[in-house]
Amino acid sequence: LAPAAPRAVPRVLALANQKGGVGKTTTAINLGTALAAIGETVLIIDLDPQGNASTGLGIERSRRRVSTYDVLTGEIELRDAVLETAVPRLHIAPSTLDLSGIELELASQRDRAFRLRDAIRRLNGAADSDPERTDPEYTYVLIDCPPSLNLITVNAMAASNAILVPLQCEFFALEGLSQLLKTVEQVRTTLNPGLSIHGIVLTMFDARNNLSTQVVDDVRQFMGEKVYETIIPRNVRVSEAPSYGKPVLLYDLKCVGSQAYLRLASEIIQRERSLRVAAA
Ligand code: ADP
Ligand code: MG
Repeated sequence: LAPAAPRAVPRVLALANQKGGVGKTTTAINLGTALAAIGETVLIIDLDPQGNASTGLGIERSRRRVSTYDVLTGEIELRDAVLETAVPRLHIAPSTLDLSGIELELASQRDRAFRLRDAIRRLNGAADSDPERTDPEYTYVLIDCPPSLNLITVNAMAASNAILVPLQCEFFALEGLSQLLKTVEQVRTTLNPGLSIHGIVLTMFDARNNLSTQVVDDVRQFMGEKVYETIIPRNVRVSEAPSYGKPVLLYDLKCVGSQAYLRLASEIIQRERSLRVAAA
């Protein structure tokens, strides 16, 4: 028997912005769903103690016996925290409130910034050495970060190939962005030389509001090509879906929000292809 081909190394993207309410979790859930819908195999890692990505994907608290908290403490392997969702090829490692205490717990550990990176690296290891294992072969890992630039977010940045920044189309959209970019730069120089900004996704765009259009112009002026062409509109279906424990693509596939997340997914896959061509 020929040895099995080594498993694909997933692309790891973190959704980060230290502001709350900008669309990180909504984008993690719906971009993850859209990528899975077009054939990728996706793992969402919920790194926000609030656990909104887990709730929004219908994972009840009672099912979160093990979580990303246990993964970061080193108590369990990432693959053992993974749960299936209602979306084929979309899995999630859920979070619990315990995670809010992790910073203090890891404070004296030398590898504290690399706990998640190392857990993701081990994700495929056991399956590589044991052909009997049927672990899914993830092509994308999406990390939903908390609204802060703390050790949890640093773990996400140290574990990622690139950062995806959701920005809400509102007056203070750009406020805080330079601090976020500075943190990404610091992580790049000290912890993860391969880290880049994948792109900026404008969220909650309201065409009836002149301010929204002004913000889009400003952000494009400031960040140029880094801004995805796809803009996520403000859409009530998007905000309703989590209360049913569903991604919006399952709740209402035809609504403008679902269609926008499908376009974002293809744009991201395109960008990934050109990055790979550039690197080859
Ligand atoms: P974050 O994770 O950055 O804190 P969320 O993704 O939780 O932000 O979004 C904040 C709030 O805005 C949530 O109530 C969410 O349902 C709502 N929301 C996000 N995106 C949209 C959208 N495109 N249209 C309408 N509501 C949205
Ligand atoms: Mg969130």
